[in-house]
Amino acid sequence: MTKKIIFLTFVLIIMICSFTYFYKKNNIAYNSKVVSLMKKYNIYNEINKNNYSKTLEIALESGEFQEQYATIYQEIDYIERKNFIKDVNTLLSNNYSSTEINTIFQKYNNIKNFEINKVNNYEEYQKKNNCSLEEAVLKVNIGLDHDFYTQINEINNSHEYTVLVNKYHSLGNYEPTDLKSLSYDSKYQLREKAADAFEELVASAKLDNLFIRPYSAYRSYDRQELIYNNYVARDGKDEADTYSARPGHSEHQTGLAVDVWSEGYNYIKDNDAKWLKNNSYKYGFIVRYTKENQPITGYIEEPWHLRYLGKEIATDVVAKNLTYDEYYDLYIK
Ligand SMILES: [Zn+2]
Repeated sequence: MTKKIIFLTFVLIIMICSFTYFYKKNNIAYNSKVVSLMKKYNIYNEINKNNYSKTLEIALESGEFQEQYATIYQEIDYIERKNFIKDVNTLLSNNYSSTEINTIFQKYNNIKNFEINKVNNYEEYQKKNNCSLEEAVLKVNIGLDHDFYTQINEINNSHEYTVLVNKYHSLGNYEPTDLKSLSYDSKYQLREKAADAFEELVASAKLDNLFIRPYSAYRSYDRQELIYNNYVARDGKDEADTYSARPGHSEHQTGLAVDVWSEGYNYIKDNDAKWLKNNSYKYGFIVRYTKENQPITGYIEEPWHLRYLGKEIATDVVAKNLTYDEYYDLYIK
């Protein structure tokens, strides 16, 4: 009897031990899909399964996993952000250590528009201009760490209503396909939605006893080239650049920009400019070039130049009190 009890106790102990052993062995935090990916990549045995790494898990699940970084992923603190693993891979391929990578992500964690390949430029800009990191990121992303027209990107979304055109982004030979004449004079054209919105704006101003008219709307690349070259011949390149866009860089080429004059005058009266400043967004336009924005846009104040963005975005740009260049980097791109 006693022998039987001792034997049974022994069996029970063995059972408990083996259960605990197997349970512990399989009790890793990775799900079965990730475990099978680890086995596929032959890294299952070298992974420290007691030290769960979210970075490793996401790397495997995202399809961005690179075998040579299998063990280093485990040393990198996971941060919730778009393209995180892609960015980690970029830094690892540039020989950043896991400690350095953790420091970078910690530092830039709250700056959502930061781009991993510009980290050095941000640091340099911040040091040089003694500004906040947020500001450095924004300015560098816009291109302002380089002089105007020295680093030019071809625009690939020219037809979108949100397109950003400035001294760093060129439309090339782009021509809009849905131009519509304005009722004031058929020689002035805007893209359909912008044209309708402009009519609405003019009609609304009229109700406030203000009379405004278009004096320049869509301009082709060739037309802009002619205009710009005339200004350069008159005032020289440096000065012309402060008020006239180089061909390919004018918002007028998008068919979404219109310059306005007060009816009966060949300029915009202060009162009308004030109305435009306070009301254009209600019709989907912003006054694109203001005095305070000159360091960012590179243009002198142009209270007559309206850019169509649609009501929602125009309203938001005005509410946030940003240039469209800044807004685009923070909320559109
Ligand atoms: Zn203009």
